[in-house]
Amino acid sequence: MDHNTAGVGGPERFEQLIAFLGSQLPPPVEQQVDAEGAVQFIGGEPPEVIALLSHSSIVVSEFSGFWETPFKFTAKPRRVGVLKWRRLPENALLDALSALIKGARDARLASFQICKYCERKTAPEWLHDDHVCQACADMHSGAIH
Ligand SMILES: [Zn+2]
Repeated sequence: MDHNTAGVGGPERFEQLIAFLGSQLPPPVEQQVDAEGAVQFIGGEPPEVIALLSHSSIVVSEFSGFWETPFKFTAKPRRVGVLKWRRLPENALLDALSALIKGARDARLASFQICKYCERKTAPEWLHDDHVCQACADMHSGAIH
């Protein structure tokens, strides 16, 4: 039998990675397929981790973004690692991927702050300032919109 490496990076491995990312990312997980067949995963609500699986690599990023205007939020993910998934044996690949997901998630969660009024853990893009979320800031300022 011809034992080349074709099976290692084949479509089965790609499917396996889709299933793995779907189960390892923080829920809920959103999936989108782009024109080239790469699959983007966004996990968490608010979003925590983004993974982009293409036919040769997986890019794992911490979710991040900023308000371009008060009504337009622009995502600007912070890349934490890239894996060339075809080059790694299965166990090493899945271990590395888990570690990257965990690292991205920890970094993202570390940027959350607890609002001093409602005591909710709030993502930085929803904070009015360091210790007050946007909703409470709106309420406490008595502003009329
Ligand atoms: Zn609040």
